[in-house]
Amino acid sequence: MSTGTKISMADVITRFAPSPTGLLHLGHAYAASVAFEFAKERNGTCLLRIEDIDHTRCRPEYTRAIYEDLDWLGFNWPIPARKQSDHRAEYASVIETLNKKGLIYRCFKTRKELPDGIYRGAADPGEMARMSSNERFAWRLSIDQVEIYLGESHLPFSDEILARKDIGTSYHIACCHDDAVQGITHVVRGKDIEPLTKFQNLLQRLMGWPIPEYFHHDLRLNDDGDKLSKRNHDTSIRSLREEGYTAQQVLDMAIP
Ligand code: GLU
Repeated sequence: MSTGTKISMADVITRFAPSPTGLLHLGHAYAASVAFEFAKERNGTCLLRIEDIDHTRCRPEYTRAIYEDLDWLGFNWPIPARKQSDHRAEYASVIETLNKKGLIYRCFKTRKELPDGIYRGAADPGEMARMSSNERFAWRLSIDQVEIYLGESHLPFSDEILARKDIGTSYHIACCHDDAVQGITHVVRGKDIEPLTKFQNLLQRLMGWPIPEYFHHDLRLNDDGDKLSKRNHDTSIRSLREEGYTAQQVLDMAIP
């Protein structure tokens, strides 16, 4: 008799997490289909999450287009979808927790002031004066402090920004927090994000969040071998639909 813990197939929860910075294209149709199929094959659920914390790039009309285009393609997700812009207070409280643990520091530097390669900074000595003059700052994770906290040295990470100056949070914080609160068991996403996964796993350890399993799928390329992008309007799902293609034809184009 096996003594191992058996995970029920029904426990699988994946998510598709587009950012509404443009219209969805064939690459998104492919990514959505991998995440939704992964859940379906395991009798699980695929959630939809709108990653719209960056108000400088995201637009509500693209969020609406995501709902419409995915619905037209035939994907189903539990409603309402989680919209990150509704949860800023939660991301702020994660930053507060990391601050209380002494793991982050204020950084006033601009990108141009940073050296290339791995960056290990420190709190700015003129911090108080800069704060009282209302200068904006980012919060960075201090890998030196993390090494002390975890009792591990030589971690191969830079002091990444966890809260941007302009939006008060970051992709890493919002994504990992949401994966935790949404109970994501399997993160199914593109290979372009694979290099960020180890850093996200570190954050999950620091916050005591569960670490999901990860599957990084290939990216769909255009005929020139470049990644499909939102700038390439030819391949937007919307334009293909307007040209008269059916949802099935668009999925056939998207899925190799
Ligand atoms: N919002 C990210 C994107 O559109 C996806 C992030 C993720 O799946 O973790 O590329």
